[in-house]
Amino acid sequence: EVRVRFAPSPTGNLHVGGARTALFNYLFARSKGGKFVLRIEDTDLERSTKKSEEALVNDLTWLGLNWDEGPDVGGDYGPYRQSERNALYKQYAEQLLETGAVYRCFCSNEELEEMKERAKQMQLPPVYMGKWATASEAEIEAELAKGTPYTYRFRVPPEGSLKINDLIRGEVSWNLNTLGDFVIMRSNGQPVYNFCVTVDDATMHISHVIRAEEHLPNTLRQALIYKALGFPMPTFAHVSLILAPDKSKLSKRHGATSVGQFKEMGYLPQAMVNYLALLGWGDGTENEFFSVDELVEKFTLDRVNKSGAVFDSVKLKWMNGLHLRSLPQDELVKIFEDRWKSVGILVDSDGTFAKEATELLKDGIDLIPDADTALSNLLSYPLHTTLTSAEGKPIVQDKLSEVAASLISAYDSGELLAALDEGHAGWQKWVKSFGKSLKRKGKGLFMPLRVLLTGKVHGPEMGGSISLIYKAGQCGAVNLQSG
Ligand code: GLU
Repeated sequence: EVRVRFAPSPTGNLHVGGARTALFNYLFARSKGGKFVLRIEDTDLERSTKKSEEALVNDLTWLGLNWDEGPDVGGDYGPYRQSERNALYKQYAEQLLETGAVYRCFCSNEELEEMKERAKQMQLPPVYMGKWATASEAEIEAELAKGTPYTYRFRVPPEGSLKINDLIRGEVSWNLNTLGDFVIMRSNGQPVYNFCVTVDDATMHISHVIRAEEHLPNTLRQALIYKALGFPMPTFAHVSLILAPDKSKLSKRHGATSVGQFKEMGYLPQAMVNYLALLGWGDGTENEFFSVDELVEKFTLDRVNKSGAVFDSVKLKWMNGLHLRSLPQDELVKIFEDRWKSVGILVDSDGTFAKEATELLKDGIDLIPDADTALSNLLSYPLHTTLTSAEGKPIVQDKLSEVAASLISAYDSGELLAALDEGHAGWQKWVKSFGKSLKRKGKGLFMPLRVLLTGKVHGPEMGGSISLIYKAGQCGAVNLQSG
């Protein structure tokens, strides 16, 4: 059975790198009909906070990456917080002591420092050179009797190598002679990180460890502990780093990098998930637009790239636009309408205003807050103020004057407003005969009309714009820019 885990340390926000690791685990589990486990790695008690854990849980939930087992939902292999698993670590440490895979090391910090110095002078790797790996039973008993504090140190074979077959990186091998015996439990009884992870992955029956490349060096120690515990080794898959556009490691100075920030900026979770999946993965075609279901269907680890993936926020924004526009129409209208009401552009709505505005403006909107500017811009030149002024000075006098004069008379006679009362169709009918009377059509007609009516050279489709501006006055949509 496929069982994978996402194992964040609750020491900060969920970053795009962590979110992508969680996503790959989620997609792998779902595509294999396996289980996705959330484990909170809070062994670093000073840096771990409950607040971070809550934020992590919220961000993962927002992304829709639901887990089958975890601290909140429980499961057969809990507890799912490392801070609650001390008894288990202790039990396995004792087991390893009994089998001789670890030994008690009574070296003081001073002795260890000296050893390090000595190794440095002899230009040797800083490996443990103390006597406790081979101490006699009597020597050990004597220290125990004195109450000397001791650590549990793992006995590393002095020669040979160890290799794993990483599903992304291929064969990875290490020489053992530079590793040295390492501590798995401190003298205060605190288990060491690599030991906890191994005991957890083993006892939670994790079949595949999919995690960031930066954990690759830990894999050597963890693999040795696996062997000593007699548990079957999981399959490893180390995912490459996420890079900034300048190819350096992505960090805060490159702008928004945490999932929470993107959520606040108005990104859709499905766009986030789609974009994160493309960081190092593709289905082998040109296609880049995927729903979560499609990702589950298509995802395989062997298509995950081993070189670093560049985080491109411009592309993420573009992708958000694609997902926004692919929402069912009424959902999109609701999103924009709520947004316009919450920022005060729209006071009341007869239902059709938001719908028309959405249809007209959506192509230029990638992020929900962009809808504010789009609608404000459109409404920033209200119909009545343009036309009621007797000298309604055209913006580019020589090109507009003829059209302006006729437009003003069409307004004064009530003909234009009557047409607008009939909506978009009324406008179309009117503009056709208006053009005919002036012997103008196409750009020569619509350009001056646009400038006169909206005050802008460019904008959304004319008829739609005018009908909407006209309606805005009737349903309480206001232009924020004119105060
Ligand atoms: N707790 C580790 C981290 O947050 C993950 C360890 C692992 O996946 O093995 O980076």
